[in-house]
Amino acid sequence: MNFRAWFQCINGCSQTHELNEIIYRCPACGELFEVQHDMNELKKWSADEWKQLFIERYRKNEWPYGSSVWGKKELVCPNVENKNVVSTYEGGTNLFWADRLGKMLGLKELWIKQCGMAHTGSFKDLGMTVLVSMVKQMISEGKNIRAVACASTGDTSAALAAYCAVAGIPAIVFLPRNKVSLTQLVQPITHGVMTLSLDTDFDGCMKLVKDICANNDIYLANSMNSLRIEGQKTISFEIVQQFDWEVPDFVIVPGGNLGNVSAIGKGFRMLKDLGVIDKLPRLVCAQAAQADPLYRSFITGFRKFEPIQAQPTLASAIQIGDPVSVKKAIRALQEFDGIVDEATEAELANTVGMANRTGLLCCPHTGVALAVLSKLVKRGLIRSKDRVVVISTANGLKFTDFLFQYHQNQIPGVHSDYAFSPIELPPDYEKVREAILREVEK
Ligand SMILES: *Cc1c(COP(=O)(O)O)cnc(C)c1O
Ligand SMILES: [Zn+2]
Repeated sequence: MNFRAWFQCINGCSQTHELNEIIYRCPACGELFEVQHDMNELKKWSADEWKQLFIERYRKNEWPYGSSVWGKKELVCPNVENKNVVSTYEGGTNLFWADRLGKMLGLKELWIKQCGMAHTGSFKDLGMTVLVSMVKQMISEGKNIRAVACASTGDTSAALAAYCAVAGIPAIVFLPRNKVSLTQLVQPITHGVMTLSLDTDFDGCMKLVKDICANNDIYLANSMNSLRIEGQKTISFEIVQQFDWEVPDFVIVPGGNLGNVSAIGKGFRMLKDLGVIDKLPRLVCAQAAQADPLYRSFITGFRKFEPIQAQPTLASAIQIGDPVSVKKAIRALQEFDGIVDEATEAELANTVGMANRTGLLCCPHTGVALAVLSKLVKRGLIRSKDRVVVISTANGLKFTDFLFQYHQNQIPGVHSDYAFSPIELPPDYEKVREAILREVEK
């Protein structure tokens, strides 16, 4: 088979570029690229043949196809040779049936796609495996790449650091000081990756890293590099496969730099073009009210978009005021009858508190998505019979500093409705029994 993919700019300028070229923006119009696939070649296989192939490979052991990203290699990045794939067996994350939480929110069917159950604890692994594999391929072809770099709100840097450490490729991460969780700061450090902690925010880090990468000997790993979008779109492939090729009514994803909402749209669109599915879900992008430039644009009907200065939010991974993938995201939302809404700090924190009571362990960003879901159900935009998937973007264990503060009721401006704390007692039978009886009678 002769599957092929290349970079083409999102405005469709005629010049295309190979995926092993070091280039991030269209030289003609300055816009971002997206990866285009030779759809005619892909369409030579029937929908049933694709489904069969994906089922055969899912979570199996033949390198590299057991990874749920590389199990769809032909649709993701056929250009990488298998020997250059850098994989941690990513994807294949649980689609959790949140039965109790769904009923509390007024839904028959709420599903949580647990993308945080990943090697580095977030969905960023899905895109990073593709990007770092392409880097390994380029190095093997003799390209002069001295290191790979990214700006990050904490999860991209963790993924870049791990994948580069797996491959033995040098990496540099640019982090905004005091704006990532302790776990996220520790991740690149423990992988021995150069970690820059800078007195600015994500948008400031992004400007710097772009300049550092302008010489082309340091490769840029942010999601303006559309190789990452190709890996992340497998979230949609997995959801469809996990529903036995049915399509949910709504998919809700927290958005910051807006690469992921674009990727999820691209995944569903591709499956529809290949005949694997016959309808599209509605896409919902959930933002923190403290960092909501897309929401502000949405309420103007996307007639205008203006970057803002993002304010501090518990949902630190989406504290972004100038999202690089905004055009892609708006196009995807328009195509998928999309909705954008936002959640305040109190809403996101208390929604995490509520969700965790039902056995989940949510990160603040998943809290943003769930809080927006709750609002849309109350407003009747999502009905109780709708099948809803919420994308949980990171593992709550990366954000125990937030959870600890929440349960101490110590988050400024937030009353913790679901605060719960340990009962400290001496190791004494009578006192322990007394405390238990008091608790049970409550
Ligand atoms: C990166 C990230 C997001 C936002 O994804 P974008 O593609 O930047 O919109 C949301 N949640 C978590 C946990 C993330 O790491
Ligand atoms: Zn162009």
